[in-house]
Amino acid sequence: MSVATASSTTTHWRDQSGCLYHDLRVKLRNAGLRPTRQRVGLGWLLFARGDRHLTAEALYEEAAKARVPVSLATVYNTLHQFTEAGLLREVAVEGAKTYFDTNTSQHHHFFVEGENQLLDIEGQNISVSMLPEIPEGMEIARVEVVIRLRRKEA
Ligand SMILES: [Zn+2]
Repeated sequence: MSVATASSTTTHWRDQSGCLYHDLRVKLRNAGLRPTRQRVGLGWLLFARGDRHLTAEALYEEAAKARVPVSLATVYNTLHQFTEAGLLREVAVEGAKTYFDTNTSQHHHFFVEGENQLLDIEGQNISVSMLPEIPEGMEIARVEVVIRLRRKEA
């Protein structure tokens, strides 16, 4: 134990990454998804680097760089399977653009216009005081706030 305490951050990182790989397979199984090579490959890109917001296209590019052999269609399917299994949260910012969020807890976002950056708003409660009437037979699943930002003109 004393060795571990005295170990460098490098060792710590290596230990953690070993755990993450194992955790990922367990995570997939617990979510009812067979840990296929493609799911593990994409899951690794998604979940091994902390909280991330990724579009399908961005993940597809990362997969190509990391030599994970998948098609864009597979990336879409896998992202939707992960989302249905509760491993990801979909955040729709603009009509065609959907971000997949590895942070599935309740939180809100800043979106930087023109830079396509989605940022978590951390540790602050936002109150939405006037919600519209909702259609009969419906209930609110959750309220998500996206605050759109742009750079101030110099
Ligand atoms: Zn987020």
